[in-house]
Amino acid sequence: MTFSKAGSYEYMCAIHRVLGMEGSVTVTAAGVHVPDAAPVPAAAMGPAIPQDKGYLVEDLGDGLYWVTEGAYQVMFLTTGEGVIAVDAPPSIGDKYLKAIAEVTDEPVTHVIYSHSHADHIAAAGMFPADAVYIAHEDTASQLARERPIPFGTFVGGGPVPAPTVTFSDTYTITVGNQTLELEYRGPAHEQGNIYIYAPKQKVLLLIDVIFPGWTPFLELAVAEDVPAFIQAHDDVLSYDFDTLVSGHLGRTATREDVETQKEYVLDMQSNAAKALQTVDFMTIAQQTGFENPWLMFGTYLGAVEEECADLTLEKWGELLGGADLFTASHCARLLESLRID
Ligand SMILES: [Zn+2]
Repeated sequence: MTFSKAGSYEYMCAIHRVLGMEGSVTVTAAGVHVPDAAPVPAAAMGPAIPQDKGYLVEDLGDGLYWVTEGAYQVMFLTTGEGVIAVDAPPSIGDKYLKAIAEVTDEPVTHVIYSHSHADHIAAAGMFPADAVYIAHEDTASQLARERPIPFGTFVGGGPVPAPTVTFSDTYTITVGNQTLELEYRGPAHEQGNIYIYAPKQKVLLLIDVIFPGWTPFLELAVAEDVPAFIQAHDDVLSYDFDTLVSGHLGRTATREDVETQKEYVLDMQSNAAKALQTVDFMTIAQQTGFENPWLMFGTYLGAVEEECADLTLEKWGELLGGADLFTASHCARLLESLRID
């Protein structure tokens, strides 16, 4: 379906279907379909990004800094003997180098990859080739995989230096006056994603699991393992931290943000279970017929997903940014996990 004129239409476009939404769609002059979305709550907003620089660098105490351009987040430490940089998202790119140069003359001597996803590390080629590159062993094997198109191509980055130090369970790095404790506790987001803890500053970094003020990115932020993703909320809270650097959006997270997301995710899980018990498969199968099983199962699972999302949005619709857009996709992941995990 195409619209020749800009305007507002009652139409369920492909975006609506992916997002599990119903309602009107606005078509811009460029022909882009923009679903109508709920207002973003104030609690979802972060500090203002200085427009002239395009990034914000903030001191989290004792030589630990946090950098964001509004969509992605990284952290780095000055040690007196060189900088330890965590991650390198292409969206921040060389603004990261500017942020480091703004607070120290030390060169980057150590780079840690939080996990293997290109949108978080594919700008690491900008760091010195002779730096020490540290990652979990599963991250190293994923980076070494053969791929049809070079790593990072579609997120504005490129291939990255292979890790020179890998570990399986825990690894403590001390450089100058700084210490970081790295730990792997299972696939909270993907195989090999690690917790990075700065004990002196009580700052924890875990990427792509907690989304302060917002619903997670689509499908529980593409979590590979739903039970491990849910468990991660308690694992995060088991650390003695005050500030969590969580990888996305415009602010850092507090313990309360983690508690809030845990409640939201557990609510969705129980609503998915409720919907699996109340949406009647046979009623739907009689409507679709049995000839096309994908039509039958697709319609049934879509109805369960919609029921789960409706129940969840009654409570959460106005509390978390983007809940109206992505809750149905989380419900789909959770109901599938309840059925098969
Ligand atoms: Zn990721």
